[in-house]
Amino acid sequence: ETHPAHRHMERLAAEGIDVVRVTYPDLIGSDRARDVLLGHLPSACDHGLAFCRAVYHTSPQGDVVPVAGGLDAGLPDICVRPDLDTLTALPWEPGVASCLGDVTDPATGRPAPESPRDLLRTVLDRCAQHGLHPVIGPELEYFLCDPAPGTPTGWRRYDEAAGVVYTAGLRADGDNHLLRTLRQLRELGIGVTNGNHEFDGGQFEINLTHTDAMDAADRSFRFKSAIKELARKEGRLATFMAKPFNDAGGSGFHLHLSCLTDAGDGTEEGGSAGGGGANAFDDPSAPYGLSAAARHAVAGVLAHAPALTALANPTVNSFKRFGPDTLAPWLVDWGLDNRSALVRIPPERGSGARLEVRLGDASANPYLMIAGTIAAALLGVLAGEEPPAPLEGYGYDTARSALLPQNLPAALDALEADTALADVLGKEFTASYLTYKRDEVARFQRHVTDWEFTEYAFHL
Ligand code: GLU
Ligand code: MG
Ligand code: MG
Repeated sequence: ETHPAHRHMERLAAEGIDVVRVTYPDLIGSDRARDVLLGHLPSACDHGLAFCRAVYHTSPQGDVVPVAGGLDAGLPDICVRPDLDTLTALPWEPGVASCLGDVTDPATGRPAPESPRDLLRTVLDRCAQHGLHPVIGPELEYFLCDPAPGTPTGWRRYDEAAGVVYTAGLRADGDNHLLRTLRQLRELGIGVTNGNHEFDGGQFEINLTHTDAMDAADRSFRFKSAIKELARKEGRLATFMAKPFNDAGGSGFHLHLSCLTDAGDGTEEGGSAGGGGANAFDDPSAPYGLSAAARHAVAGVLAHAPALTALANPTVNSFKRFGPDTLAPWLVDWGLDNRSALVRIPPERGSGARLEVRLGDASANPYLMIAGTIAAALLGVLAGEEPPAPLEGYGYDTARSALLPQNLPAALDALEADTALADVLGKEFTASYLTYKRDEVARFQRHVTDWEFTEYAFHL
């Protein structure tokens, strides 16, 4: 009777909930889950839920990737324990509440090294040792698709012809997808603020509130699951693929990054972010109104951008989003309120002084991208380096700034070579990640694509 889960169970039962969906993010941010009957929640908390310690392809064939400790060890268990603080009813699935899980390795009782939530925890602990508490505001773009039987992929963009950016209402969204979705997300309670139609037909952006980095990562992860579930419920597909269509731009996953000092320790920085300490990134007397910590954070993100690309742009498809004139980055640069730069500094100062890191695409695992971005910023702060002069005017000038890695193998090599970043992320994690992603590259390189047939089959 005294089990801590009972308090939650009584409330859930009163709300008519009889199933708890316990979900954890795997290495690549895919949501893996078990539906647990409410009466068995205490047992799930005490013993954990057993899953096979493997990382799977995301293709329907879903094979196992040989990450250390998985296939080579005979596919042992990992143990997922519900984090009851994250319980929230799913508005589109009456009777079901969702709950995030933490992953441990039963052999050691410690967090599994490939657990993204624990990786982020580790990075945030490092920041806290230096009195820094990162705050993240996520922005995610995605495409909504309708079934298109007889086409190669089976899907076409929803309201394809209606791509007019910032158009709200039926002219660009004939079925009111955005309104319906925003209201469902409000019910889910994951801190969504607003949404808009993006540049291309069928493309939307939804913005989340800024909160501490773990909460922001949890909400981004749940947001992606929710959008995919809601679309599926209507027989549609919502995709967070970086660049799903040849005739449309890509989908970004921008991070707004600011940083609180320890509570009561913000007197020298000016500005106030409310709650904890002051915003460590604000300093009205410093160049650009940005504190030394903010400028060092920019320098850190730029210095580690090639390696960070492996986490923020994690698929072979991701690199097709990059390019000049895309509003996605292409070069390693920063600018003051400049959307053509990798790091944009939005115009607000004071509690709103922040970096907008525009590198990531929507396919990124939120935990890994946020952990990597914060780790890069922290390394910059610790190194005390200044960034180069900010980009002026419209960017994409290769004479001025270095190119980002142009494909996934190059990004993975950059991550492997960046020992400072790999040290913060942990050697075990980095090794597992490189193994997984190099297997993905190898599978892609063996695969014969439609493009090859069209290009080569007829005239050679
Ligand atoms: N779709 C662009 C990207 O891939 C971003 C457009 C915007 O600035 O909202 O990052
Ligand atoms: Mg956008
Ligand atoms: Mg943005």
